Amino acid sequence: MKKIPENIALCGIPFDLNSSFLQGSAIAPQRIREILNNGAGNDWTEQTENPLKSPHFSDLGDLAVDNYLDIENRVVDVLKNNSRTLILGGDHSITFPIIKAYSQFFEDITILQIDAHGDLYDELDGNPYSHACPFARIMEGSYAKRLVQVGVRTYNPHQRVQAEKFGVETIEMIDFDKGVRPQFDKPIYISLDLDGIDPAYAPGVSHHEPGGLTTREVLRLIQSIDVPIIGADIVELNPHRDVSGITAALAAKLLKEIAGKMLFGS
Ligand code: MN
Ligand code: MN
Repeated sequence: MKKIPENIALCGIPFDLNSSFLQGSAIAPQRIREILNNGAGNDWTEQTENPLKSPHFSDLGDLAVDNYLDIENRVVDVLKNNSRTLILGGDHSITFPIIKAYSQFFEDITILQIDAHGDLYDELDGNPYSHACPFARIMEGSYAKRLVQVGVRTYNPHQRVQAEKFGVETIEMIDFDKGVRPQFDKPIYISLDLDGIDPAYAPGVSHHEPGGLTTREVLRLIQSIDVPIIGADIVELNPHRDVSGITAALAAKLLKEIAGKMLFGS
């Protein structure tokens, strides 16, 4: 794709069959939309932009998907239609077929992954497509060129070997805490796993991992991006684990801020 499309299509991918521990993220897109439409807040970003009412924004609803190939094909359809995608998961396994679709349109993709986990396992419980594995599949297939992770705090020796093998740039939480921040000089795809945020702010996820990013730190990360954004996903909201819809509200806010950045930023 020579030029990054101006349009954004919001799409739900209600798919959680590759979640290793708990199901529930399949109902997340619906929950996030409910928050956007419940009248409790307004549509505007913190910089007083309204991406949701932009003529360049549309909501395609939930995509009909049963498997990986469906996800890849539906995302290809949207990209062919000259739109970027802003996707609501679903578990994090969906990012592999999404990026596979993107790689047919964009060269040398850079991904910013916000996550408590590296998601670099070669396989988990015998499943190479587990939500613990998508970035191993992406990097070994060369579907992206550069992977920058922020917020990771769960590496084990296997994942360190994998990160080294694939040349992953990981800003672990311990380094982020010391002030290390990601730098980009090319357009990026954002993959935001809500468990990257501390469970005190985001309890509605399947894997609680204390010691994470604050809501404000993630907002600052998004708001400070100074390169174009080719697409994004927000994954791993598990409404069964949420408390008073706090995490769904967080996902809705991050959706607005990312959409605002995609449409009006840099
Ligand atoms: Mn995670
Ligand atoms: Mn993840």
